[in-house]
Amino acid sequence: MIRTTVKQFKPYSPGLSIAEIKNQYQLTSVIKMASNENPLGMSPLVIEAVSKKIAEAFRYPRPGSPKLRRAIARHLQLSEENIVVGNGSDEIIDLLIRCTAEPGKNNILVFSPSFSIYRMQGLLHGVKIKDIPLNTDFSFPLNNLLASIDENTSLVFLTNPDNPSGFALDRYTLLEFAKQIPKDTLLVIDEAYIDFAHPIEKYTLLDEFLKKGLKNVVILRTFSKIYALAGLRIGYAIAEKEIASHLLRIKLPFSVNHLAETAAAAALQDTYFYQYTKSMVTNERRRLQKEITGLHCTPYPSQTNFIMFSTPLSADHLFKELLKKGIIIRSLKSYGLPNHLRVTIGTPEENTTFLSTLADILNLA
Ligand SMILES: *Cc1c(COP(=O)(O)O)cnc(C)c1O
Repeated sequence: MIRTTVKQFKPYSPGLSIAEIKNQYQLTSVIKMASNENPLGMSPLVIEAVSKKIAEAFRYPRPGSPKLRRAIARHLQLSEENIVVGNGSDEIIDLLIRCTAEPGKNNILVFSPSFSIYRMQGLLHGVKIKDIPLNTDFSFPLNNLLASIDENTSLVFLTNPDNPSGFALDRYTLLEFAKQIPKDTLLVIDEAYIDFAHPIEKYTLLDEFLKKGLKNVVILRTFSKIYALAGLRIGYAIAEKEIASHLLRIKLPFSVNHLAETAAAAALQDTYFYQYTKSMVTNERRRLQKEITGLHCTPYPSQTNFIMFSTPLSADHLFKELLKKGIIIRSLKSYGLPNHLRVTIGTPEENTTFLSTLADILNLA
């Protein structure tokens, strides 16, 4: 009774959890630098706001999260009709595919490697996925991408800044590219890490969206990364009104819960927490880049809160040795990059521990 597509489905391969590793290696303390979470934990203002609302969780939330839509719209100086809130941007990715792609007919373009949810939800929905290999330096082969669009291409996914490489494309190049996309194809720019790009205005397409009302571009943002709400599951799309209204129509009515909505609205208010995280990540990114290089590893440039690097030893060996010593980073095997690793930028203390453990393993201490 199970569909073939479902039988063949390869589930998402997440970063390992702290509890898992504590258990497996009998460790009392474990540092997780695997899933690009905010190492500072939640903003105190968010904790307070959520605590006050807990007793209201017996009520259904309002479909479409109108309060949060308004708060995000105000924050971005857009109309709330341009905003769709989802259970993580993962839900929005799924909605976009189901909204635009006809199973068995349409196709979706993704870079390889790229964030696996685009491919997974596309395959599950029964649409063809076309892979465009990234350039060897992990920059975007935009001409290949354009040349691969055909009359059945409903969506093009582009992560900017990119995961897992950290590469970011400037917004002028992106805009020129966007203008060449046929009008029946939707370009989705996933800006999950845009808050860590410096300066943001150099990379985000939001200003163009505001000025030019880009019709076939959707921008995705999330509260999982800089806003530190990964566990509450909340993300949003910025889209032209008609597209937004269709996404809202098919969304499960209660997929975004009360507490997530409250938390996200409070998170937008805490500009101190946002700025503090941003400057910590930017400073520590610079330090890690330099120190990782000093350990004979090769980091890639990054505009995100993580760094991809290659190593003189086998990446798999290094990954396992770090685990044994209580440091979880991300193996990139599931991204098809067996020789690369990705480390999330932690607190200064966590980064120091990571670096000294790395030096230990590489016999460079
Ligand atoms: C982390 C991440 C997201 C965010 O997903 P959520 O469902 O909002 O937690 C989206 N896109 C990319 C590329 C990511 O790495």
